[in-house]
Amino acid sequence: GFRQLLTWASRKTHGAFVFTSNVDGQFQKAGFAAARIEECHGTIHALQCVNACTDEAWQADDFNPDVDETMCRLEGELPRCRHCGSLARPNILMFGDWNWVGKYADRQAERLAAWSRGVERLVVVELGAGRTLPTVRRFSERYGPRVIRINPRDFSISPERGIGIAAGALASLQAIETRLRHG
Ligand SMILES: [Zn+2]
Repeated sequence: GFRQLLTWASRKTHGAFVFTSNVDGQFQKAGFAAARIEECHGTIHALQCVNACTDEAWQADDFNPDVDETMCRLEGELPRCRHCGSLARPNILMFGDWNWVGKYADRQAERLAAWSRGVERLVVVELGAGRTLPTVRRFSERYGPRVIRINPRDFSISPERGIGIAAGALASLQAIETRLRHG
């Protein structure tokens, strides 16, 4: 699925921009440029101070958690804030989270806004975005009427905004690609 999206992006004059609530860094891993991704809920690949003593976050590459799977407990040292020595935590937005450092996501949002201003006819391919926390769905709908909402259950969308496809992401992307190729 990621590869298919990359292929489509490579065929477009302005490429693509990813807007995701996923925090797992899979788009980067699949080959999307970091400068073309907005992670609206942050990322598990960065750490920040639990008290947000500064608005800095840093790459979590050096932190290799050794977990006792039976006890579900971290063995060894907890990650620490580089600045004050307090506990460090993932730079992920949680529920009721007032200490999340959002400036990196804000910068990504600025890049996305700047990019989208240069695109004449933006098409949004929305994949598996839930209704419980509708951040991604609301984002897509701002760019109607060319939204393709792909979702096995919550596929409905008003016709002025786009079309809904009631199926899984990979199968839908492959079916669209087949149609694009064979008309
Ligand atoms: Zn700190």
